Formats: sequence, structure tokens, C-alpha cells
Amino acid sequence: MSENKKSEKIVGVKGMNDVLPADAPLWELFENTVQTVLKSYGFQQIRTPIVESTALFARGLGAVTDIVEKEMYSFTDSMNGDQLTLRPESTAGVLRAALEHNLTYDGPKRLWYAGPQFRHERPQRGRYRQFQQVGAEALGFTGPDIDAELIMLCQRLWDDLGLPDIKLELNSIGDADERNKHRIDLIAYFEQHKDVLDADAQRRLYTNPLRILDTKNPTMQAMVNAAPKLLDYLGQESLAHFEGVQSILRHSNIPYTVNPRLVRGMDYYNRTVFEWVTDQLGAQGTVCAGGRYDPLAEMFGGKPTPACGFAMGVERLLELMKANSEQVAPNQCDVYIVHQGDAAQLQAFVAAERLRDAGLDVVLHCAAAGAGGSFKSQMKRADASGAAYAVILGEDEVAQGVAAVKALRAADADHQQATVAFDSVAEYLVDQIIGADDEHDHAGHVHYRH
Ligand code: ATP
Ligand code: MG
Repeated sequence: MSENKKSEKIVGVKGMNDVLPADAPLWELFENTVQTVLKSYGFQQIRTPIVESTALFARGLGAVTDIVEKEMYSFTDSMNGDQLTLRPESTAGVLRAALEHNLTYDGPKRLWYAGPQFRHERPQRGRYRQFQQVGAEALGFTGPDIDAELIMLCQRLWDDLGLPDIKLELNSIGDADERNKHRIDLIAYFEQHKDVLDADAQRRLYTNPLRILDTKNPTMQAMVNAAPKLLDYLGQESLAHFEGVQSILRHSNIPYTVNPRLVRGMDYYNRTVFEWVTDQLGAQGTVCAGGRYDPLAEMFGGKPTPACGFAMGVERLLELMKANSEQVAPNQCDVYIVHQGDAAQLQAFVAAERLRDAGLDVVLHCAAAGAGGSFKSQMKRADASGAAYAVILGEDEVAQGVAAVKALRAADADHQQATVAFDSVAEYLVDQIIGADDEHDHAGHVHYRH
């Protein structure tokens, strides 16, 4: 290895992002809100591995979807030759786990998950190679009621996150035999308009013609708009199911638009499909997509298990939150402890633990590269930490059994300072901090203002 190579800086992988501390409070707020909402609908969390057998996705997502065709991170396990894939989505893994552990043996289950997904796409705004999804899967429910409930849950989440501009688009793609009849007519129609089909559409003509309806190519819009509509091919049962979903949504005052051209990228969907879209995010405007996928369990060799779910793109939702809300207050500590001398350092550790026992967030000054350890430079750190109070321990304080407590955020310019008996410091600060701030939140310190 040349000298040059050795010192080359190693950087992150393209399309895979770091979430830096400045953004962490926003993520925390999102995650806490999601957990609260899902719990309030009786959903239970499931955590499946990031790596699954390649066959799970090849079988589950259908060989002619974008994901399986060109987006999967697949590799051979060099130890044993197994074909493995970083999960591009979580529905397949959740269903695999549910069947493997027979989760629905005692009745239907409401499940949810959160975690990273991997797709080899061209990175751009709102489209990354590692991205985060939160999703829910309701397993074992047959009726339109659960479809509507999943949608209402999303609406509540947007409301709780302060996101007013997310619109619901709804469609039904019927059952397999209805789609087959439509497909025959659709292919015949596209064959009549072959001159308008772009390369992508030509390629999909006989493999996945339904996906052509989803094209974003403007020169194909007029032709696609006039194509045979799947809705016109639905039979009694599918129509009744679709009407059932809509009836609950209407009664619950959830606005929606029926979009007959809405289809899903995954082959396993049937009947209800929906997307939540916004025009605030440019081209990547879909923040959540879902629907019913009754056939998937049997495709996996499991017992028949009707299912309905959704997945939302967390990065897109966070971008919306940033655009729609006031800043989330950064995570800050309550107290910063500065100290000088060996004896004071030992006392500082004692003080810090006692304050933490009392429920406060405490940063203890520790030696740092290039930073002076003088009182003055430590006080600068204390100020920068965002702490409300500094606790100051020097030789004199230790000798007298006291600590100096300084308010760093007090309104008056000369910041009050008090001398407090060492054993009373925790009690004193709890009084000051919690007494002064009704909104003080010891669980997360995330204060969010709409
Ligand atoms: P698109 O048409 O944007 O590629 P998709 O149909 O592939 O979306 P789904 O597989 O349904 O997306 O995933 C659900 C949600 O996850 C999407 O609506 C989107 O919000 C988010 N998502 C999908 N792919 C990405 C990605 N590469 N980067 C960031 N978010 C994504
Ligand atoms: Mg995609």
C-alpha cells in the first residue's frame, strides 16, 4: 500500500446518511410520537433481522418489481455459500416471522416495526440507499374495518406530528382473477399504442403491465389515462370491501381521493391500496404507502392469513416536520459540574451521581484535548452545554463541605450564585429546576412547540 493510499480519508457509503446529534431530538420526537400512536391502537412491536434469505424477497416481492430487478443488496455468505439480502422492506420479514412463530395461533395480531431498509437506488432528495421505515402489519383480519383503522391511525399520526398537508389517495386493485381479466384487456390496449410506450413500458408490457399505469413519463399520460380501468373489472365482493373502507372513512371524516391509477410496486397486494402524498417534497412526495396483501402468507407456504399494512418513509416525514414546525429544542443537560484539584474531582463524581439519582441530567467536566482545565475555560464549556446550572467545586468548597451553584440562564446579567451545603445540592437544584419549569420532562427533555 502506498503512503498516499494509507492516508486517504475513509468516508461514508454513498446514499447512506449519518444522523448527527443536531437532528437527534427531531428523530426522538418522531419515534416517541409513533410509538405512542401505535400503542394507542393496540399495535405490538416486532423486530426482525436486517438480513434475510434472498429467496424471501424474490418470492415475496415478485421477480419483476423494481426492487428485486435492480435494487437489492444481495451477497453470498462466504462462510457457507448462503444467498442473503439486506432487507429492502420489512413486510416480507415480518410475515415470515409471524408464520415461523405461529403468532396468529390465538387470533389476529396488530404488529408494527421500525428500522433501516436498503435499496440500491440513485440517491437524491428523499431517496436514499439506506433509509428508515416505520410500518404496521395487521395479520388475520379479513374485513374492510382494519384497512380503515390503519388509515385512521396514519391520520392521527400526521395530526400529532403537526403535518397538515398530507393527502390520502385510495384505490382497490381487486383480486387475482379480476386483475387477470383487466390485464388481458390492458395488454391489448397497450399493444394498440406501442408507439407511445417508452423503453421501461415496453419491457414491462408482458411482465407487469399494471405498473405502466404508474408511469411518470409525461408523453405517456394521455394514453395511460384512457386505458381500461381496473375498478371497472371488480366483482361484487371486491366492490363491497372497497365500499366498506370508504364508508368508515367518510363517517370518520377522513378526506380521501379515489385514484384509479394507484397501483403498488409489490406484486403481493390485493384489494385496498393507499398512499399518503404531499406536494411539499418535490418528486418524492409519497410519505406512506400500504394496502392489503392477503395472498402473501400462502406464497410463503404458510396457512392462509389475510393481511393489511403500510410503510412510511421516515426521512421524508422528518423533512416535512422541519418545514412545518418550530425548531425542536436541542437535548440539553440540567447541570454542568466544574471542578479544580484532585479532591474536588472526587467530590464532583459524588455530586454528579447524587444529582442523577435525583433525576437530573448532568455533564461532569472531563479532561479534553486542547481544552484548558482552568475554571474559566470550564465555565465556558458549562455555558455552551446549555445547562441551566453550574455546580462549582474547588479546594475551598471541598474544605468547607459546600458547593457553589450558579444559575447560567437567569435573566439578570450578573447570574445569581449561591453557596449550598454539599449534602443539600441535589435537593436545592431539584427545587430550582423542576419548581421553575412545569414543562420539564425528565423522560426525554424534548420540548416541542407547534
Ligand atoms: P417510490 O415510488 O418512491 O420508489 P416505493 O413504491 O418504492 O416508492 P414503498 O416500497 O412502498 O416505496 O415504501 C414505502 C415508503 O418508503 C415510500 O412511500 C417512501 O416514503 C419510503 N421510501 C421508499 N424508498 C425510499 C428510499 N429509497 N429512500 C427514502 N424513502 C423511501
Ligand atoms: Mg421505489
